[in-house]
Amino acid sequence: MSSIFTKIISGEIPSYKIAEDEKHYAFLDINPAAKGHTLCIPKREVDYFFDLKPNEIGELTKFSQKVARAIDRSLKPIRTGVIVEGMEVPHAHIHLIPIYKETQAFSLGKKVEVTEDGMRKLAQQIRQKVEL
Ligand code: AMP
Repeated sequence: MSSIFTKIISGEIPSYKIAEDEKHYAFLDINPAAKGHTLCIPKREVDYFFDLKPNEIGELTKFSQKVARAIDRSLKPIRTGVIVEGMEVPHAHIHLIPIYKETQAFSLGKKVEVTEDGMRKLAQQIRQKVEL
């Protein structure tokens, strides 16, 4: 059975899309730890991040860097943090979480409320700054 993220890539499940290339897809996390929390995934469905091939980890990291730069340019956090966890969705992914304050809790356990309209606007803001 396809992962929920594979269904997002195919469009079967909607997402707040940020960017896409031949091998990767980026979209807003539906339950964000901070405004603009974005997930970057390989299109090839692999559960455990470290089961990706070394070159796939490299390519996914490069893709994520471009998306992080777009978050930096659009939302202007102090910097964008990175988490790889993968305990919930069995499809490797990199969390990009903007850090707006030095005191901000940096954890997937912390969530912020964002309206649907807010999510749409955040996705649009970031998308406009993506340079792949
Ligand atoms: P984890 O597997 O623990 O690294 O986290 C999986 C992440 O995927 C969580 O932060 C969820 O909020 C997020 N997530 C789950 N389903 C969706 C979805 N349909 N669209 C966007 N993000 C999702």
